[in-house]
Amino acid sequence: MSNKLNIVLFGPPGAGKGTQSEFLIKQHGLVHLSTGELLRAEIKEETPLGMEAKELMDMGELVPDHVVIGMIRNCIEAHHNAPGFIFDGFPRTKAQAESLDSMLASKSEPITAMLALEVSESELVKRLLKRGETSGRADDKNEDVIRNRIREYEKKTAPLKDYYSAQGKYKGVNGVGTIAEITARLSSAIG
Ligand code: ADP
Repeated sequence: MSNKLNIVLFGPPGAGKGTQSEFLIKQHGLVHLSTGELLRAEIKEETPLGMEAKELMDMGELVPDHVVIGMIRNCIEAHHNAPGFIFDGFPRTKAQAESLDSMLASKSEPITAMLALEVSESELVKRLLKRGETSGRADDKNEDVIRNRIREYEKKTAPLKDYYSAQGKYKGVNGVGTIAEITARLSSAIG
């Protein structure tokens, strides 16, 4: 058994993954890998990868699997001494989950648990439109784009609950409440 803690923080757009990651990082010294943040950094640098991703992100579509898998592979290799990782916004498709498992299997450091933040669609739309007032993110400003992101999640990402359940790793956590309440629920889910 590996003593590393590798957590997949899971949930639809606006569920609070970024906010709750901060606590998990502090509490457990984990390295935070957010594909959304990595992609936004590429856009800021105006790299070819960033330009390709921006078009899709602005429409609320997922970027291609090979793009995010490559980014995650580089980051895992760059942090091989980390006490563990928190994966935020990754994996989002079955192909991504399978790649992640094989990357970690080659290091004998499997995923410990998938913590899934559960929030209703009406609450998600409300939170994202509110975030759009200050985040500067084009994809948070338009309700059609927000609803498309939620559709993409339901179609391509939500099935990963079954993928991790089959491995006995899925843990659902109520994502509605104060930040501190949700943090406490995540802590007890980690055990
Ligand atoms: P949110 O938490 O609001 O979903 P993210 O920052 O995680 O925001 O993602 C923003 C956008 O970046 C997504 O809508 C998608 O276009 C792209 N993206 C992020 N992670 C992935 C991924 N693992 N696979 C494909 N696309 C991704």
